[in-house]
Amino acid sequence: MLLRTGGCYCGSVRFAADLVDEKAAACHCHQCQRLTGHYWAYVTALSDAISFQADGTLSWFHTSEQCERGFCGHCGSLLFRRRTGEKVIAISVGSLDETVALRLTDHEFALERPGYYPLPVKAQLFRTDRSDPSGVVHTAPAIRSGARRRSAPGG
Ligand SMILES: [Zn+2]
Ligand SMILES: [Zn+2]
Repeated sequence: MLLRTGGCYCGSVRFAADLVDEKAAACHCHQCQRLTGHYWAYVTALSDAISFQADGTLSWFHTSEQCERGFCGHCGSLLFRRRTGEKVIAISVGSLDETVALRLTDHEFALERPGYYPLPVKAQLFRTDRSDPSGVVHTAPAIRSGARRRSAPGG
């Protein structure tokens, strides 16, 4: 049992979740960069292992056809990600009240990482999602930083 409580910055969303394990993942994808300003770190719980004490301002935004993000509509805190067909919900590590036992072990979309920060050499690096084992990248030096694609001004 890894029961954790958490919530958004303003306290309008409060929840308790029994986490799947103590492993946290960082997602370096372009979508998470936009949503968080850096990379997103999360833990997971089964969808039926999370309960809400307050959720009146919880809003969901589709970031793709298969994926939506849950955030507080009042203070803007990013709290959750859920995907169509998955039984787990991803929870922002930063929303938890207690994180001592957690370990950041997995790094997803490592190739989309911008060049301004390094990845730990001994971390598990994934080309895409960590649920895709064929995408494991074993050594950090093989990772090149992904250039952020922006459309040129006026073009
Ligand atoms: Zn809030
Ligand atoms: Zn991401």
